[in-house]
Amino acid sequence: MGIAARYLWAGLALTLGACAQSPPPAVVAQSSTCRTASVMLAFDFDGASQAQCAVIGERAFTVLVTPEHAPPINPSPWYAFRYEADGAAPVSVTLRYLGGSHRYAPKWRSGDVARNLPVTVSDNGAEASIELPAGKAVVTAQELIAPSDTRADLLRWSKMLRTAPFTLGRSHDGRPIEAIRIGRQDAPRLVVLMGRQHPPEVTGAIAMQAFVDALAERADALSAVEVQVLVVPMLNPDGVARGHWRANRGAVDLNRDWGDFTQPETRAVKAWLDALPESVHPALMVDFHSTARNLFYVQGDEASPAQARFLAAWLGGREKAFSGYPFTIEPRNANPGSGTAKNWFHASYAIPAYTYEVADTADRDAARSAARELAAGLLAALAGVDR
Ligand SMILES: [Zn+2]
Repeated sequence: MGIAARYLWAGLALTLGACAQSPPPAVVAQSSTCRTASVMLAFDFDGASQAQCAVIGERAFTVLVTPEHAPPINPSPWYAFRYEADGAAPVSVTLRYLGGSHRYAPKWRSGDVARNLPVTVSDNGAEASIELPAGKAVVTAQELIAPSDTRADLLRWSKMLRTAPFTLGRSHDGRPIEAIRIGRQDAPRLVVLMGRQHPPEVTGAIAMQAFVDALAERADALSAVEVQVLVVPMLNPDGVARGHWRANRGAVDLNRDWGDFTQPETRAVKAWLDALPESVHPALMVDFHSTARNLFYVQGDEASPAQARFLAAWLGGREKAFSGYPFTIEPRNANPGSGTAKNWFHASYAIPAYTYEVADTADRDAARSAARELAAGLLAALAGVDR
């Protein structure tokens, strides 16, 4: 380890020690640029990681991948940087994880060319080594879907639906929490779709994008069965833009804040729901995430008979129906005080409320295709059940 790296570790240990006793918000490490005569690594774009970089040699670097606040934190070590390398020789980068271990296979993108990079992971998962080809490219833990990309989706849906996106509220950093509505706004049954509470959970965002596409194409059919949909695809824009592993800018896991509503992002959704006319009622909530496997967390034996019938109508028996996208249905009773959106929507409105979890490694096309099928199936289930 070179002098720069030693200095970095010492400084970081001090920072973490201090953070453990300080109130949030806690930014552990500032991003930095690494530069040699022929190579530059930078962390200067929305979604770039909270990382520090050390020069090990002319074409060798260590990137220290650090969480946004002191551990404990959910082990979703996000990393993202760009590089420019003159000459022809490859550049070696070692990702060194602090407070987590290797989880995401590195994605390399240069213009329209994208692929996974081979990676060598240490036995304990604390380090991952990659070789970068010379040239200019971006390396990210999962595909980069920044707030501006989601904004582009909202504008695309807005054109399809001839309705404008609107702002529910603002994040700590002042970024808008944007939404769009599908279907007639006086339709009495409201489906709430949310995404990106947890910044690195990009496969959930990929599924949500396809799911919303399919619903937007069926806006008239939704209206015909008296359903409208609220879509909030980017609930934690600060966390995404800052390359967080889990939390928002307030160092809070937003999916533990439903009930307490200490954070502006969750409060924005709550305030909008509270302002609905009495003729409109939430009927279903689906919250998109990522984890190790494809699954749906649903209500356990606390579900009412009507909720159980809805589950059977929408997801029941379809676990192996989609090519390349098998999933499981995992009933979980609410753990009192857990503060997840799933539990809060179920408890507050007595409605089905599910967490739609997509595997980190899910085949992207299969996840999109299954999401489109599940959206079509949702419309059928809403048309047929408990009208
Ligand atoms: Zn999550």
